[in-house]
This record gives sequence, structure tokens and C-alpha cells, in this order.
Amino acid sequence: MGQEVSNAAGCLFIVATPIGNREDISLRALETLRRVDRVAAEDTRHSRRLLAHLGIDKSMMSLHEHNESRAAQRILDYLLEGESIALISDAGTPLISDPGFPLVRACLAQGVNVVPVPGACALIAALSVGGQPTDRFRFEGFLPRKRQARRSHLRRMATETATLVFYESSHRILESLCDLRDVFGPDRAATLARELTKIHETVKPGTLGELVAWIEADDRQRRGEFVLIIGGMPAGAAGAVDSDKLLTVLLEELSIKQAATLAARVTGEKRNQVYRRALALQREI
Ligand code: SAM
Repeated sequence: MGQEVSNAAGCLFIVATPIGNREDISLRALETLRRVDRVAAEDTRHSRRLLAHLGIDKSMMSLHEHNESRAAQRILDYLLEGESIALISDAGTPLISDPGFPLVRACLAQGVNVVPVPGACALIAALSVGGQPTDRFRFEGFLPRKRQARRSHLRRMATETATLVFYESSHRILESLCDLRDVFGPDRAATLARELTKIHETVKPGTLGELVAWIEADDRQRRGEFVLIIGGMPAGAAGAVDSDKLLTVLLEELSIKQAATLAARVTGEKRNQVYRRALALQREI
């Protein structure tokens, strides 16, 4: 049993709010938001609307990525004075690609009680319906915005055997999917989860090649918020060395000559051939 809200003095509650459908607020979240002394929110205007919908009028303060350390100190001061505070974000679970980590750290360091009030979280909702293995997954949050950084970031996880989960916005969904297809290969299994719990909720499994073709053909599928779930590298493929992927990883750390020599030793290919491909890949990276 979690901590009773009525004994909540000097306690920070990390409260999950809906990711689209407002019915997804839990009874405990509702009760916690009613009882706390104040609510810290990422965007107070946005959250005030949610609280108004729930019939709650509460003193609010903002904690967002641009004021995080200052706001965290103020919140900590209130908590140390015995107040109970709920932290919420614009949607879903705070701290999951959202602010709150420095505050939770500071509270734990000062012996302030931190209590989870769990609920909606886009990555968990997507995994639960995505049809990709959920026994082992690696949450990667948002990919780098710039193409080159994104591609080299992806190359480093191309041989990951656990399911990979990414967050993406409408601005970059097509570019990111194309990069995923190019780096992981068009046949890799994936699921695109869009606008979960909202009117246009779409869960589309397919290969990366199919998913790119699908959203290229219909620009409505590029609107909204996305979770991308990529199946891990299949067990059979994990043993077989993809020479280009190996070369690409080695090129990030070594000279062309060293990378080509090592890759040729691993794959058994001719060093000259590998060297020529390394030169071409280096120009792409
Ligand atoms: N804290 C949130 C959570 O618990 O999921 C995530 C916040 S993060 C700033 C916002 C990203 O989460 C969006 O860009 C999108 O990738 C994902 N997301 C949030 N709501 C979603 C939804 N209803 N459907 C699909 N993805 C969603």
C-alpha cells in the first residue's frame, strides 16, 4: 500500500496525468491532486485546464526545463517546511522525457518522501499494443534532431537485440523513420503508435520499409505524437556480422586504415576491398 494522502505533509507526489484521453486519470491521482497544498506543473496554463476539468482549483507553480534547478530549490524549500506537493507534466508520467529528475534527486538527498502515483505513459501504452517483444526493451526517448547526429546515434544501436522505443514528434517522424530504415535495414520489424488514447489513435505494425512507404503515401499519418517501437536485431542475424555496420562502428573510433584492417579480420574479406568501402562510408558519416 502506498503512503496515505492524508499523512502527506512534506511529501512530493509524482503524479501521472493522461496522454490524451482525460478519462485516464486514476482515482488516486485525482484524490492526490485534491489534497496536496500545491501543484508543480511543466506548463501551468495547460495543467490548469486539466485541473479545472477535474474540478480542482489549486495553487500552482511552474517547473520546466528552463527554470528547473531554481524551481526545484523553491519546491524543496516548501517540502522542507512540511508542505505536500504534486508534480505533474503536460502529459503522462513526469521525468519520462519530461522535467523532474533534479527535484526527485534533491528530495531523496534531503530525506523528503517521494511517492509515485502511477498512470499513463506513452511508451508503456505503445509497448502494450505494439506487437513487438516486451520482455526486454530499451527506451531511447527522442532521437537527436540533426540528421548526421541521428544516424550515428542509431548506428551505435543497430545490433541491439532488445526492443527499442523512441519518442518522436510530427516534425521529424518521416526523417527519423527513413534513417531507421537506412541504418537498421528495410526488413526490420517495427510498430508506429500514433495519437494513443486520442481520436486518431493508430497502431501500425510492419517492416521499417513498409512503414516509411505508408506514411509517405498519406500525410495525415504524419500528424500528432508518436512512439516508434523497433524490434531488436533477430537472434539469427545477431551472430552474422554485417560488414558495413561493423565498419561504421569502427570508423567512429578508429582511423580508416585501422577500421578496415580489423573489419577484414573479423569478416574474412580482402583488406583492400574493405578499405575502399570504408572510404565511401566515411564520406557518408
Ligand atoms: N512524460 C510523457 C510520457 O509519460 O509518455 C512523455 C512526454 S514527451 C515530452 C512527449 C512525447 O511522448 C511525444 O512527442 C510523443 O513521442 C510521446 N507521446 C505523448 N503522448 C502520446 C500519445 N498520446 N501518443 C503517442 N505518443 C505520445
